[in-house]
Amino acid sequence: MPRAEKSPPEAWLRVTPQGLYCAAGDFYIDPHRPVDRAVITHGHADHARAGHDAVLTTPGTAAIMRSRFGAGAAKTYDEAAYGETRSFGDATVRLAPAGHILGSAQVVIEHAGMRVVVSGDYKRRRDPTCDTFEPMPCDLFVTEATFALPVFRHPPDGDEIQKLLNSLARNPDRVHLVGVYALGKAQRVITLLREAGYDRPIHLHGALTELCDLYAAQGVSLGPLREVGRESKKGFAGEIVLCPPSSLRDRWSRGFPNPVTAMASGWMRVRQRARQRSVELPLILSDHADWDELTTTLHDVQAPRVWVTHGREDALVHYARSHGIEAEALSLVGREEEDA
Ligand SMILES: [Zn+2]
Ligand SMILES: [Zn+2]
Repeated sequence: MPRAEKSPPEAWLRVTPQGLYCAAGDFYIDPHRPVDRAVITHGHADHARAGHDAVLTTPGTAAIMRSRFGAGAAKTYDEAAYGETRSFGDATVRLAPAGHILGSAQVVIEHAGMRVVVSGDYKRRRDPTCDTFEPMPCDLFVTEATFALPVFRHPPDGDEIQKLLNSLARNPDRVHLVGVYALGKAQRVITLLREAGYDRPIHLHGALTELCDLYAAQGVSLGPLREVGRESKKGFAGEIVLCPPSSLRDRWSRGFPNPVTAMASGWMRVRQRARQRSVELPLILSDHADWDELTTTLHDVQAPRVWVTHGREDALVHYARSHGIEAEALSLVGREEEDA
């Protein structure tokens, strides 16, 4: 028998109130409401929600979901290593590394002679806390666009970490409070500090310890960590203390005398954002692709079509079209960013 006719992706992949839905396999990708079958790209709250029946995801993301939402967050977890395939209905699905945070995955769907790749959140540069993004050639690429403006060009990670170490050397009498998101950014900053040769204990706000323990248990070595207890916050001169961004200006941080306030985020590229948060030392460290990484990836995956979502769609749609790629913006609701 001849192979089935090719079926264009819009015939079997569409946006629904629950999120992106693959009708060929009857599953949703990162749905923001409870569904029967969900494929989850990674553990950030704008992608992984509690309450689904069956979840397909990587072992790393399953561990993160259990830790954040409790064991009953999903009825069943099917934990697939990168590259393992699953068949749902008439579709096959596998997960490929996305390079965003521990366990993060792109979703590769094949149906009716077509291959669609849904990037999830991703970045291209090396990150010691997760597997590196793998470009997958496809017929349709659904890409995120968090930093999809030419002004967003993230500097080398090592330079940003060196800024922190230089400030520490210049201000040995001041504690350095660094605002980091709990999932991904905290562990990345720690591993980058270790790679830069910083081997002193790194101090953690209590809200960061659980996910750091999880990363360590998953084999990411973080070196000596100490939780900041309830005791006096006066003994931290010259030390690095990591805390959630919201704690940079709350009661907790006011206990530290004369801190240098830093924050690690892709948004620190925008001076206004750093000022709003009264950040003295902005560190531009993003877990999302910058403009160059996004555009390079469009060429790497060689897809004749892209759907752009999750951020600043217009500029990337325009870029794709001007390079002969058919492109449109896909509006998905519930996409407020937990982490950048
Ligand atoms: Zn994310
Ligand atoms: Zn996201």
